[in-house]
Amino acid sequence: MRVPLLDLSEQYRALAEPLRAEVDEILSTQNFILGPKVHAFEKAICRYSGARHAIGVSSGTDALLAILMALEIGPGDAVITTAYSFFATAGCIARVGATPVFVDIDPATYNISPIALERHLAENCTRGSDGTWRDGAGRNLRAIVPVHLFGLCCDMDSINHLANRASLIVIEDAAQAIGAEYPQNGGGAAQAGTMSQAGYFSFYPSKNLGAAGDAGLIVCRDEALAHKLRVCRQHGMEPRYFHQFIGGNFRLDEIQAAILQVKLPHLDEWSAARRAIADGYREEFTRRGLASRIALPAEPYRKYGLTNHHTYHQYVIRTPERDALRQRLNEKQIGNAVYYPLGLHQQQCFAHLGYRRGDLPETEHAASETLALPIYPELTAEQQLFVIDSIAEFLA
Ligand SMILES: *Cc1c(COP(=O)(O)O)cnc(C)c1O
Repeated sequence: MRVPLLDLSEQYRALAEPLRAEVDEILSTQNFILGPKVHAFEKAICRYSGARHAIGVSSGTDALLAILMALEIGPGDAVITTAYSFFATAGCIARVGATPVFVDIDPATYNISPIALERHLAENCTRGSDGTWRDGAGRNLRAIVPVHLFGLCCDMDSINHLANRASLIVIEDAAQAIGAEYPQNGGGAAQAGTMSQAGYFSFYPSKNLGAAGDAGLIVCRDEALAHKLRVCRQHGMEPRYFHQFIGGNFRLDEIQAAILQVKLPHLDEWSAARRAIADGYREEFTRRGLASRIALPAEPYRKYGLTNHHTYHQYVIRTPERDALRQRLNEKQIGNAVYYPLGLHQQQCFAHLGYRRGDLPETEHAASETLALPIYPELTAEQQLFVIDSIAEFLA
């Protein structure tokens, strides 16, 4: 039985009619850029996430680029982030001329470790007499980009607390985590992306809410920042042909916005289906006594009774025998992937930053042991059982 890591064809089949109707309508109006569809989708995301402002952009990558540009983060500045993420997170920091500074992860959640962050701030950073913070290399400490990896929110209370102490702007990379909830003091939940000054989502086709191409969106609290981001999205242009600062072409287009608008009402049911599959993996691996052989994903917020305590963009297990298991799954035509095989601090393009092997031990360890298994709402029980049986057979 072939089991793909992800198969979007069923989702399309179910929504083909309304999706085609939207595309048809836009083709007949020929209104492709920053029209009513983008505006309506931005409002829908505000309603869905509880964000105050939403700015549709061309991709998750461009979302972070636009945020950094709008905040005037650049040469001489340092931005703290995780090395266990997709490249875009650090790539954008470097593209604006700032330096990405990597802090290690929590090995249970794979998210940035508040303990490692606190240690970095205490050991490498100092507060100047003017109240600004600098790191050991004399760079201005400007921001931190925590990444809600695989659909699980970071420990935002601790991160916001530490960031506040060091006057850091917090920018949430919620590219993989739209809809993911984080428990609030006094009950209730806040959503990924809305717990800091700014956050962003990616609608790359394989993300939980996927466009028919590249698309992204920024959410933020501050009206002035939202305005600046809208201007930044169009080359820093305001009014037309007058440029106050340098932005880019970071626009979300009408077709993508309309497609996302059709899909958004289904997101919660898709997240629930992903969670049910995750529960299935957990129950079966546990029942078969394998949960001690492979580490299953942590679910730190489950106990708070949140609905979307994890949105399982990826279902990632961990074993020292990862590479051999991978080979077995490949032989059985079971889709799988390694997110991510090499920490960002060890990428060739960041060699000049001077990191060495061993500098981020938890990141490096995770990179050698984690494996993503098939998870998507339409995965059948039969397919999942085949994945579980194949892993059990390997471990026997
Ligand atoms: C997908 C992703 C991005 C980039 O989003 P694009 O829309 O592909 O540009 C950034 N960060 C993380 C963690 C991602 O998974």
